[in-house]
Amino acid sequence: MDTDVLIVGAGPTGMTLANELLIAGVSTVLADKLSQRSDLSRAGGVQSRTLEALDQRGLLEPLLATGEHPAITGHFAGIPLPHDANRHRLPWRSVPQVVIEEFFEQHLAAHGLHVRRDHELVALAQDDDGVTAAFANGATLRSRYLVAADGAHSAVRSLLRAGFPGQPGTLTIAAADVRLGGVDAPTSHTWNEDGHWAAVFPLGTDPQGRQLHRLVLGGPGRSLPRDIPVTEDEIRHGLSTVFGPRVHLLELRYARRITNASRQVEQYRHGRVFLAGDAAHVHLPLGAQGMNTGMQDALNLGWKLGAAVHGWAPENLLDTYHAERHPAGAAVLRNVRAQSLLMDWAGTRDPEVLAAREIFTAMAQLPDTQRHLADLMSGMAIRYPLHGTEAHSLVGRPAPDLDLGPARVHELLRSGHGILLDPGDTFAGVAGPWSDRVDRVGQGARTEPMLIRPDGYVCWAGAADPEPALNRWFGEPR
Ligand SMILES: Cc1cc2nc3c(=O)[nH]c(=O)nc-3n(C[C@H](O)[C@H](O)[C@H](O)COP(=O)(O)OP(=O)(O)OC[C@H]3O[C@@H](n4cnc5c(N)ncnc54)[C@H](O)[C@@H]3O)c2cc1C
Repeated sequence: MDTDVLIVGAGPTGMTLANELLIAGVSTVLADKLSQRSDLSRAGGVQSRTLEALDQRGLLEPLLATGEHPAITGHFAGIPLPHDANRHRLPWRSVPQVVIEEFFEQHLAAHGLHVRRDHELVALAQDDDGVTAAFANGATLRSRYLVAADGAHSAVRSLLRAGFPGQPGTLTIAAADVRLGGVDAPTSHTWNEDGHWAAVFPLGTDPQGRQLHRLVLGGPGRSLPRDIPVTEDEIRHGLSTVFGPRVHLLELRYARRITNASRQVEQYRHGRVFLAGDAAHVHLPLGAQGMNTGMQDALNLGWKLGAAVHGWAPENLLDTYHAERHPAGAAVLRNVRAQSLLMDWAGTRDPEVLAAREIFTAMAQLPDTQRHLADLMSGMAIRYPLHGTEAHSLVGRPAPDLDLGPARVHELLRSGHGILLDPGDTFAGVAGPWSDRVDRVGQGARTEPMLIRPDGYVCWAGAADPEPALNRWFGEPR
């Protein structure tokens, strides 16, 4: 083997996974076809759960220190979700994808993991022991596992002939990075009576300290083929159609057309090959979910691959990646479809849609509804279908960030180990044999007993014997 894991694609999904494998102590090659990092402006919003996960790896503070990354208001179908509906420790932040990628690339390089650029994967073959990958530059590489993080047009997915069912794109909207004059709210979705609409989100400031915005424009007649460039005139016209003279374009930095294609790969695992991020799911970027979902795929898969490479993965641990992340991805696709309908982003002005939107908007003012939507859109609503979910409400959910006295849960997770919270100090004997992969926190943990996986999800809680759960998730003891 040349390496334990080959990751194809150094976008946010591939880089997050590389960091997980670094923490797990697994040799990794991260290959990308580009000769330098992409400067395409795409994601801008980072959800609460992704921020929590970055904090659990000690990366949140340094990432936020890279510039001005304001807290932003989440939304569902353009209906704002106020911060107080957001019960989560960390509110959404505006951090451009290019900043995240640069941050991760530097962080990985500082730990000796350099992206292998100009490495376009063009062929792969797998057998019982590993995967052989071939690159357009003539290089080949043999690894135990391969992860496709090569984006929406994934070459790996095509080479595997993996089923990728869903709906093809039927319409486009224009998305642009701009400087605007006359914006009076940090985040807004505005519709006019003819069905034209504009969404405006803060994107931080440029080096001169000037405010940048992401602008998305849609409505009747706005759907043009993807290869037709978005022009300044088109942006100016779109702004004046929605806002009149109030909001105007100061500068157009970058623009592209995005489609409403919605697809998800049938199987996230193909033997020794795994699909993650946009390679596994594509949808309209409504509510800042694509990059976040890909990073969560990586966090779910990383420690499991680590366990497999180190030889302690219980049988079927690698299969739980599909079992947990396919439903999570499907749920994202469903909420994007609902948002797309309610936003009437094609500008149909269909009376049935408008009526549904009116009722939904009124319901979205109710505190319980706001909390439900805020959970959904912050990535916190995910509950993995783990054994024991029927027995305890915490199982399958992100662990609460409890203060355990000497440290908080997110600080303990930085080790990349599992954590057994054992307030009664009763499980020292049971947990001892797993001490190389599970850290036990005894007295001082003012909580009920629970077992937390390295990705921060509770996999057992309650008063019963944790040994079966230790076996199920952390394999045979030493
Ligand atoms: C306008 C816009 C706004 C968006 N806003 C948000 C947002 O606010 N929040 C959010 O969460 N998401 C958002 N998204 C979605 C987000 O950008 C994607 O979901 C995200 O980039 C997916 O990351 P990834 O790493 O899976 O794939 P990518 O970012 O596409 O990375 C794939 C990498 O693989 C490389 N690659 C491709 N083929 C090969 C090959 N054969 N060999 C080697 N390397 C290869 C590519 O060069 C690339 O570096 C937005 C998207 C758009 C278009």
